[in-house]
Amino acid sequence: SQDLVTCNSAPEAFDHFHKSDDLNTTLYYFRQICDLIGSDSTNIQLFYPKIKSNLQSWKAKSLWKQFDKKFNQNYKIYNAGKACKDLRVLIIGAGPCGLRAAIEAQFLGAKVTVIEKRETFSRNNVLKLWPFSITDLKDLGAKQFYGKLGSGGIEHISIRRLQCILLKIALLLGVEVFEGTSYDDLVYPTDETTGWKAKFSPSDHVANQMEFDALISADGNKQSVRGFKGSVFRANLAIAITANFVNRQSNADAKAEEISGVSAIYRQELFKKLKTDTGIDLENIVYYKDDTHYFVMTAKKKSLLDKGVIIQDTADTENLLQPSNVNQRKLIEYAKEAALYVTKNQLPDLEFERNHEGKDDVAIFDFTNMWQAEDSCKMIERKGHRLLMGLIGDSLLEPFWPTGTGIARGFFSAFDTCWMLKQWKAGKMTPLEVMAERESLFKILPQMTVDNILKNYSNYSIEPASRYTNTNKGAVLVAEARSFLDTDDPSNVEMSSRDSFNVLGSLPKKSKKGDTLAKSKKGDSLAKAKKGDTLAKTTNTTNTKKRDSLGRPEKSTKSNSLLRTNIAKTTGSLWRLNKREKLDTIVPQDTLLTWCKNQVASYPGITVNNMTSSFKDGRVFCAIIHRYRPSLIDMESINSENVAENNDKAFGILENEFGIKPEMSGKDLANSAVPNSLKMMSYVSKVYNKLRGEKP
Ligand code: FAD
Repeated sequence: SQDLVTCNSAPEAFDHFHKSDDLNTTLYYFRQICDLIGSDSTNIQLFYPKIKSNLQSWKAKSLWKQFDKKFNQNYKIYNAGKACKDLRVLIIGAGPCGLRAAIEAQFLGAKVTVIEKRETFSRNNVLKLWPFSITDLKDLGAKQFYGKLGSGGIEHISIRRLQCILLKIALLLGVEVFEGTSYDDLVYPTDETTGWKAKFSPSDHVANQMEFDALISADGNKQSVRGFKGSVFRANLAIAITANFVNRQSNADAKAEEISGVSAIYRQELFKKLKTDTGIDLENIVYYKDDTHYFVMTAKKKSLLDKGVIIQDTADTENLLQPSNVNQRKLIEYAKEAALYVTKNQLPDLEFERNHEGKDDVAIFDFTNMWQAEDSCKMIERKGHRLLMGLIGDSLLEPFWPTGTGIARGFFSAFDTCWMLKQWKAGKMTPLEVMAERESLFKILPQMTVDNILKNYSNYSIEPASRYTNTNKGAVLVAEARSFLDTDDPSNVEMSSRDSFNVLGSLPKKSKKGDTLAKSKKGDSLAKAKKGDTLAKTTNTTNTKKRDSLGRPEKSTKSNSLLRTNIAKTTGSLWRLNKREKLDTIVPQDTLLTWCKNQVASYPGITVNNMTSSFKDGRVFCAIIHRYRPSLIDMESINSENVAENNDKAFGILENEFGIKPEMSGKDLANSAVPNSLKMMSYVSKVYNKLRGEKP
């Protein structure tokens, strides 16, 4: 445990952050960095340039270089960091897979929040990685935190170290992480203006007020998100023991040789002798020298009974390894004896490492039953709000650990799910098509081995074709994906972007002429970044390209006319007209008024009675900013007389910290008797859409 210090500068806090080796210390120093640079925005486009310009040590610079390289390499896929812009993604679980998914979703431009129920990363167990996972981690800059990774044949890493590395990368890219917070359940939208929320413990945690558009369950094999069915795959009885011993990094510690994935078939002699000499009967043992001396072995039940580790035999595997049926002292002796024997007594001072409870780090568990989800995704729609959900990692498919597939397949499922988010947000496919594609990829996941994936690991991305030899895209039909959809508005379900029939079999309504959202808008500005730009540069440049009805820059007249024909065939169902986009432009006045009133309720002397004069002196905007980011504005210094100054201050912060372009100036407001109601509605709508559902 490190002594926590208060830092005087962001670079000093970054040094501590860099060295931190646990969840709570990493977050402690990261939060100091944010305070010291005056930004806690989680929007990558706003946050990343700020942190980057404030941290310029060589250690920091090498990370920025790596992040920029990764970003530029996948520039098209990330759509310049805007592929999932404004998509609010909740990830449950800061295990390796949840954090890996968070990084990709953040690169896609989503606003990502990770919830982790633990307060520390305490799992010492060491994981063998596939070569692709090592390349993937290196490409993210992991070697800046763990120089040994992938060097000198080191292809394993302790799970807590892996989590720490991924956590640091995620945080530097602007992912929001809450520790000590447990996801309990979903909270369904109660009306059209409040979207999907979740219930978290503790119940007063700020995350309870946040809204989400997508949820990724990465909470391990205990899978806590309701609504996903699965089955338990039963293999022959398999009992594993893990043991972690202190590695003092001394010459004596260096002596013993690692044992990598040895099975009984190859080491018949060793296991036979072990049994004769000690009574310990193993099917398998692995030993890695990492932060700890880590042993994992599969033991035969009879030898565990004979050596008194299991007290009473039962046919029922669940009760067999209940703590009351395991003699802990005998278990410790069993693990230590096996470890000493297989390393030929070369680790003479074996002392157990501490586990999260401060006890000897030894565990016995049954991996006879392995969880596999039935479906990889689903979408729930209520009161016009859609929530896309996906499972990744062990919550999707629990691995048979001796094959070392956990992280590899877990990362694949994280990539495939982020691909699903991208496809969903792009709006070129119906949600059912997107889910059918995701489910088709899930069907091939269990078959993935080190040997049958593409070998150019550096080219890997969330795009499935960059990794799989056969993406099997049509394995699940759109009609089959209907079961992944739970909606209170079945008449609005879109099947396929080609057949244009909805589930009820009726033809969709024709798109109305003059539909504001279907019209292409001229002169819209959109953040543009050239390939080769660093990630930091993407925020500043704009252009005025025309956009098509889907909000995409128009390409050529020929392709536009084709596009229009397709749209004419498929509109009627709202899938293309993403409801959030619709709300982005027009928010009903009553909704805005109620929301603004609630925002300023605790600010004495500031009231909202209408959408015009109430906003004129700028204090309402200042109060709203203060509610969400108190460090950005000093309310004591705001005086109602300084109309132009207050408004300019608020407009500046809203632009720089939240990316909302001003639609008027402070001077305009000071000179007008009453603010223009249309302009004000449009501007406040943007503020509302940016902040509603955020943590105040
Ligand atoms: P986890 O690592 O289980 O993380 C889930 C996270 O979610 C946890 O931090 C948990 O606290 C959090 N959480 C759970 N519920 C909630 C909630 N309600 N709210 C908030 N947070 C929640 N894999 C390999 O690749 N190579 C190996 O060599 C290997 N060896 C293994 C050896 C053993 C003995 C075991 C048991 C597993 C091994 N594995 C191995 C498998 C590997 O550990 C897992 O596949 C991997 O950890 C899965 O990562 P994950 O992120 O999906 O889930």
